Amino acid sequence: MSLTLSEKALSVKPSSTLAITAKAKALRAEGKDVVGFGAGEPDFATPENICNAAVKAITDGFTKYTAAPGTPELRKAVSDKFKTVNGLKYEPEQVIISNGGKHALTDVFEAILNPGDEVIIPTPFWLSYPEIVKLAGGVPVFVRCDVNDNYKISAEKLAAACTEKTKAFILNSPNNPTGMVYSKDELESLAKVIVEKDIYVIADEIYEYLFYEGSAPVSIGSLNDEILAHTITCNGMAKSYSMTGWRIGYTGAPLAVAKVMSSIQSHQTSNPNSIAQMASLEALTGPQNSVSEMRAQFKKRLDYMYDRIVKMPHVSALKPQGAFYVFLDISEALGLSYKGNKVETCGEFARILIEEYNTAVIPCADFGFADHIRLSYAISMEQIEKGLDRIEAFLKSLQ
Ligand code: GLU
Repeated sequence: MSLTLSEKALSVKPSSTLAITAKAKALRAEGKDVVGFGAGEPDFATPENICNAAVKAITDGFTKYTAAPGTPELRKAVSDKFKTVNGLKYEPEQVIISNGGKHALTDVFEAILNPGDEVIIPTPFWLSYPEIVKLAGGVPVFVRCDVNDNYKISAEKLAAACTEKTKAFILNSPNNPTGMVYSKDELESLAKVIVEKDIYVIADEIYEYLFYEGSAPVSIGSLNDEILAHTITCNGMAKSYSMTGWRIGYTGAPLAVAKVMSSIQSHQTSNPNSIAQMASLEALTGPQNSVSEMRAQFKKRLDYMYDRIVKMPHVSALKPQGAFYVFLDISEALGLSYKGNKVETCGEFARILIEEYNTAVIPCADFGFADHIRLSYAISMEQIEKGLDRIEAFLKSLQ
């Protein structure tokens, strides 16, 4: 007998953001004073009104199955939010509530991809996109976007990457890992290509409230009805409301896509957690002041962090406009020596930092940029100061 595994599943790498975060937590449990610039997880408590709504859901006995695509109340609240905040005309039946942002994306790709369909992913990218696409039978197609492009894809590059197998394009703005935000003009140019090539755009807007310059990021599906018909917008509660552990994501999609997503969900997971849905309803319809308070804190941290980073040797970064990451170019540091040994890769750079400086960072090889690391500033100012002191000491020791 030969007990083999699924080839598709074997082609998927484990998430290094989660692995590094778990490693930092384990070292802390051993008593080490580890600073974690790893996973993008806000350090704030979930706002009290949201927690109270969850407690009420439990005491009210709201603990049974709900409809598979989410409660009608929450789907309506998301539809209203899409319309008023994002200018996206998705009706409640076009909204699906899922078990977090990753699950929303999983449903989307399972709903739209046939084997061999290509999905264009601007590089650098959040490491889970290609893996989720592969699991759904698709083929990720990477388009490199350098620092000179502000790490953003242009309409020309998108058009050039399209083939007759292209089914979709992933647009993530504000962006993880770069913190870049696409302007309305840039989105208009991209939208023209998307409509002309007749492909879907998967707009991952999970960082929508985390922007630090000018006005709120524009949703591509809000530009006109033609692009809306090609747009699947994914979002979730985790980053904006500090609700990472509650696992609620949501999607607005053309009706045919939403119906298929609902069917998939009805077999794979049934409804997302009923209590977390009630908490999310409160998050979306209750007071919004915590969102701007958290954003103000993130901005302070970003400004502090960026000012320090630009003064450090061997590294450089564009100033992020949104999300909560600094994407650090370490190409100049690679090839230098640490204690007599050459630091050749971003993985080695990150290993030394965690093992010798108790500082967790994300090496970005899995994000498509092997000479960069990512630092999350979703941690306290005190931790940021301490961690940057350590990174600076490490960089100064390189020869
Ligand atoms: N999305 C966050 C990050 O990039 C959380 C961890 C993960 O899901 O990858 O750090």
